[in-house]
Parts: sequence; structure tokens; C-alpha cells
Amino acid sequence: QLQFTAQDVDFYYEDATGQAHQALKQVSMDVPAGQWHALVGPTGCGKSTLATLFARYTDPQAGQLLVGGQDLRETQVDALRSAVVYVPQRAHLFNDTIAANLRLAAPEASEPELWRALEIAQVAEEVRQMPQGLETMVGEKGTAVSGGQRQRLAIARAVLMHPRALILDESTAHLNDELAAQVRRQLREALPQATILEITHRISQLEGVQTVWVMDQGQIIQSGKPSELAQQPG
Ligand code: ADP
Ligand code: ADP
Repeated sequence: QLQFTAQDVDFYYEDATGQAHQALKQVSMDVPAGQWHALVGPTGCGKSTLATLFARYTDPQAGQLLVGGQDLRETQVDALRSAVVYVPQRAHLFNDTIAANLRLAAPEASEPELWRALEIAQVAEEVRQMPQGLETMVGEKGTAVSGGQRQRLAIARAVLMHPRALILDESTAHLNDELAAQVRRQLREALPQATILEITHRISQLEGVQTVWVMDQGQIIQSGKPSELAQQPG
């Protein structure tokens, strides 16, 4: 099980002229191991930036990030690549078949496992209806995989990797509340031990969530159990 800790983290993006834009300001948070947690806040407040830091794609300019209690600047990030899986909002899939994209993440996966992962990601039905099934090319004309399906294929791929921690960036945004709740249940069954941090701006979906962090303009402005949070507008 993995917990995440951020301590006084600052992060800046630099534009083409070298001007720095601060995306995270003094962010401190402890994400307990296991369970389901949520990071909420308006578009542009820094959620994805924080997620990519937790996934260790990049380092903060100030502060510390601990994954499983370790500062990975000093240890092997490679080992963590498969332990912590980040499913981005615009997932990249290879220009190959659905099966090939899934097998790339999990070469040993059996066909039933591939289908089970697609079911968890709520995309099995669509894939079954495609003439080529698992051998459908991702984005193939006439059987195009939509943005939502693409992202859910990325969830399926993540499930197959059996991560110890999973960060979902608006991964259920294209699902109605009922389907999103079902994805949660199935993901929890498939990954009973994993720490799951879901980025969302749908406050309606916090049922079953252990801890929520509310961000605004690069800062954590509230945290607690969903029932403890002050009512958020929108
Ligand atoms: P989100 O939907 O999470 O707010 P955006 O649509 O803002 O994401 O960003 C989509 C992609 O563009 C991301 O990879 C993000 O890193 C990048 N991006 C966002 N804002 C900027 C910016 N001001 N300059 C360059 N890249 C950006
Ligand atoms: P959120 O996920 O909450 O929508 P982001 O983390 O995507 O927010 O973005 C936080 C801020 O950083 C925004 O102002 C966004 O425009 C900016 N930003 C994100 N990615 C980049 C990037 N690659 N280059 C420059 N600015 C970026």
C-alpha cells in the first residue's frame, strides 16, 4: 500500500519567454494508503499538476513529495512507474488495436482478464459491438473510440497493471452517476488494496470517498471527509 505526502510544494510552469507561472502554492497534504480519495476544484486550479507530481513525472521547484514515505528524487522512479499509475484526462493510446494497447501494459494478461478490465472501464459493450472486437484499431474510422471511451480504455490498461496507487484524472467525467458508481465498485474489487485518488469536479460523486481535498488557485483550501466539508457552490 502506498501513501502520498506533499510538504510545502511549489510548482511553476515557465512560458516561452521564460516567465514563471505558479501552479501550486505551498501545497501540503497526506493521502492515506488504501481507500478512495478525491481532489476537487475548478478547472485550472492545479489538480492535474499535483497529480503529475504525485506520479513523479516531474519534480517540484520547492517542497517535498513522498510516495510510500520515500523522496523519489533520491531513489528509483522506474520501480514506481508500475506501482503508481496516472490516468490522464486525455489518455494517449497507441495507433494499434485495442488488444495490443492493453497487452502492452500487461503482456501476460489472458483474454478473460482483458475483457474483465474493459468491463470495469465500462467499455466492454462498445468493444463487443465493434466488428473486429478486441482487434479493432483504436480510433478506427466508423468504429472510432470516442474521447470518453479512449479514457476508459486507459482505465482498463491501468487495472491490468495492478497498481498499488491509481490516480484518475476526471476519468469518470463522461459517465452518469450510476455508471461512475459502478466503475468505483468494480475498481475497488479489482484493486482492493490500492490507494485511489480521483480528480473530479463533480461534487455529487463523493459517495464512498474517504477524504476530499478542495483546491483553488494552486492551494488546498479545505480537506476532510465529504460530510465535514462546507457546502461548495456548484
Ligand atoms: P485541464 O482540462 O486539466 O484543465 P487543460 O485543458 O488546461 O487541462 O490542459 C490540457 C493540456 O495542456 C495539459 O497537458 C496541460 O498540461 C497543458 N496546458 C494547460 N495549460 C497550459 C498552458 N498555459 N500552457 C501550456 N500548456 C498548457
Ligand atoms: P486543473 O487540473 O485543476 O484543471 P492544471 O494543473 O491543469 O489545473 O493547471 C494549473 C495551472 O497551470 C493552469 O493555470 C494551467 O493553465 C497551467 N498549466 C498547466 N499545464 C501547463 C503547462 N504545461 N504549461 C504552462 N502552464 C500550464
